[in-house]
Amino acid sequence: MYDYLVVGSGLYGAVFAHEAKKAGKSVIVIDKRSNIAGNVYTEKVEGINVHKYGAHIFHTNNTEVWNYITQFATFNRFTNSPVANYKGELYSMPFNMYTFNKMWGVVTPEEAAAKIEEQKKEINHEPTNLEEQAISLVGRDIYEKLVKGYTEKQWGRDCKELPAFIINRLPVRLSFDNNYFNALYQGIPVGGYTKMVENLLEGIEVRLNCDYIDKKKEYNALAEKVVYTGAIDAFFDYSLGNLEYRSVRFENELLDKPNFQGNVAVNYTDRETPWTRILEHKWFEFGKDENGNDLPKTYISREYSSEWKPGDEPYYPVNDKKNCELYKKYRELADKEGKIIFGGRLGEYRYYDMDAVIASALDMSEKELE
Ligand code: FAD
Repeated sequence: MYDYLVVGSGLYGAVFAHEAKKAGKSVIVIDKRSNIAGNVYTEKVEGINVHKYGAHIFHTNNTEVWNYITQFATFNRFTNSPVANYKGELYSMPFNMYTFNKMWGVVTPEEAAAKIEEQKKEINHEPTNLEEQAISLVGRDIYEKLVKGYTEKQWGRDCKELPAFIINRLPVRLSFDNNYFNALYQGIPVGGYTKMVENLLEGIEVRLNCDYIDKKKEYNALAEKVVYTGAIDAFFDYSLGNLEYRSVRFENELLDKPNFQGNVAVNYTDRETPWTRILEHKWFEFGKDENGNDLPKTYISREYSSEWKPGDEPYYPVNDKKNCELYKKYRELADKEGKIIFGGRLGEYRYYDMDAVIASALDMSEKELE
């Protein structure tokens, strides 16, 4: 009998398993997928570490988490600076002086601020929908070219039909700083996230292609306690109904050329282009392999917003009233399961950045393994 069965080899499960082993506990990890690492899984294609479940950029202000995770990987100096493509016009993101110079030809921060202020005046009442809200924050030009189409594709609805509260802020930088994340630490693990998770799981028994839900009783009998990082509603056989998610879909292509767009992410901000953005994975590692050689091919993923239905890959939890209340009811059931600890993005039905999920797993480990 093991001390712990960990269901799921994503970051939450892998961090807990590592800590349990370190504390002298016996631990086994199972995952229903045929690979470890959950949604941070990277797969090597023609020397390129492909982010199979979407672009993953590690960024944190939490020094403790940074010191912890860098034991398992060396991080490169990658900085996220997305580009927007509006009908062939390229703009720097997030909105900054490069963006304003391209949009209006303005040169100084004062000129940019004056232009934005002038355009914001168009809305002289409390915004009643997302369109009015966005114009009241950044003015019509930026809204029309950089916000409208992208947001409509993401939500599948016209901005005039979307509530104003969806956008609270649209940060405007009156500087030439196009580093998307305001984080103290940022980067991509050299060699890919899968290798980093492999290092976390070193010396731990891992069984892949094992769905816990199929044989719950059998698996529970393996260990004193279970750390479950799968979906909380699936654990209870959806007895109270399905929790909903927002989804994304990727169309992948390996191209026989070295450079497609020169950047990891290009957002397509017009309404007509069906995808929201294109990722070019090699630029997470500056187009080079581990030995510093240029890679001859490139791998791209067109990303589409898509409606989620039961059975699809769950990506983002929907934090509306209906789903929050349903989660609360599942949580009450979960609290009665003495032997099972629910954790991670699916077990807790919440969006976690990687640093937050690591912090959460470390926190739980400390309480559980003391
Ligand atoms: P997961 O990685 O989902 O792991 C759960 C594991 O449990 C999976 O391997 C799954 O197969 C397994 N499992 C589920 N059910 C069962 C079962 N019944 N039996 C056996 N195994 C099971 N964070 C950042 O910090 N930066 C980013 O740039 C970033 N980009 C993101 C982009 C997208 C599109 C998404 C959706 C998320 C992004 N994140 C990002 C968040 C990041 O993906 C999560 O923080 C992280 O993956 C959460 O880890 P986890 O272990 O909780 O869940």
